Amino acid sequence: MSRHKNLTSLDTLFAQANGAIDPQTGGVVPPIQSSTTFVRDEDNVPLSPDHIYGRDDNDLVRLGEQMLAKAEHAEDGLLFPSGMAAVAAVMRTVPNGGRIIQQSGIYWGATKWTREFCERREIDLIEVDCADLDALRSVAKDADILWIETPSNPYLKTVDIRGCAEIAKSIGADLVVDSTAATPVLSQPLDHGADIVMHSATKAINGHSDVLAGFLACKNESAKRWEMIKTDRQGAGAVMGSFEAWLLIRGMRTLPLRVERMSDSALQIAEFLAQHPNVENVLYPGLPSDPGHALATTQMTGGFGGLLSVQVKGGGDAALAAIGKLNLFKRATSLGGVESLVEHRHTIEATVPKNLLRLSVGIENPIDLIADLDQAIS
Ligand SMILES: *Cc1c(COP(=O)(O)O)cnc(C)c1O
Repeated sequence: MSRHKNLTSLDTLFAQANGAIDPQTGGVVPPIQSSTTFVRDEDNVPLSPDHIYGRDDNDLVRLGEQMLAKAEHAEDGLLFPSGMAAVAAVMRTVPNGGRIIQQSGIYWGATKWTREFCERREIDLIEVDCADLDALRSVAKDADILWIETPSNPYLKTVDIRGCAEIAKSIGADLVVDSTAATPVLSQPLDHGADIVMHSATKAINGHSDVLAGFLACKNESAKRWEMIKTDRQGAGAVMGSFEAWLLIRGMRTLPLRVERMSDSALQIAEFLAQHPNVENVLYPGLPSDPGHALATTQMTGGFGGLLSVQVKGGGDAALAAIGKLNLFKRATSLGGVESLVEHRHTIEATVPKNLLRLSVGIENPIDLIADLDQAIS
């Protein structure tokens, strides 16, 4: 598989945490900065101009933001205490009576929250399948935000970022891309015309299922919407704690390595499932037969990520019977961790087909994972 030229420098950037060395001790791991406040000298001048109060000034949060902003080729980046806090930070910039166009069939938490928010604030919400640019064009009208997710969760649809960027421009909207499933290793949506990229860093970016985090990065840091997001985060205090930031940076040091393994294994699993007699359909952009494959190769490099969905033959009962037999894949929500997970999304989200299982492929030996799936669906 072809590797992005940038991956080498990304590997180095992440492995060395952007060159962070503890200036006090020379330690190769930055210390947890636990203080929420910082002293001033006898002339009332802060000892360090970048350290006044913890809500604004935490070196670890800044370091995590720098690492991820570099990976996204962004002018600026902001960490949040969860992915949903990052989603909400973007949406809150839309004025009452404004309009949001949001892709349908995306991460359920974002759909649900955006619906409730728009109702409360009398914001016009248009939901449309943005993987179909004609469908998007047919409903597009002046809007504040066009929100897409690619690959989408749990349908793994590939959305044309450049195509959406053109449409967004024509209706005066900012294009925001939830790139959680792609990770900053495999795709840089800002290079394809997005204005803002969003991640649930709880997923592959942290990768160890032990930190909640969200991230936003922008193409233009002087854009009005970005300034609003930044000011509001500082003022309203949706900031990440120092210990979480420390864990996140520790997790991110292996991000490129983990994503490479997860993507390679996910592709092997998708290929195995696609030829299995008890499988109806596999949803994964890495499969050449996937409707989004050709497009995905133009906006993802180095792999297609660790998330895939499979529809088994025999309906909901067969799907539930299969996940009941899995040993290595843990039955739990979420994705992007080193351990493989499986979820029957219909249990949570009624519109998802009953026979669909969403798999998050971890870094275990792919031969073990395939054997586990084989015994469960055969
Ligand atoms: C998990 C997820 C979110 C929400 O992030 P949290 O960190 O759980 O708040 C948003 N988008 C996608 C695609 C996700 O998978």
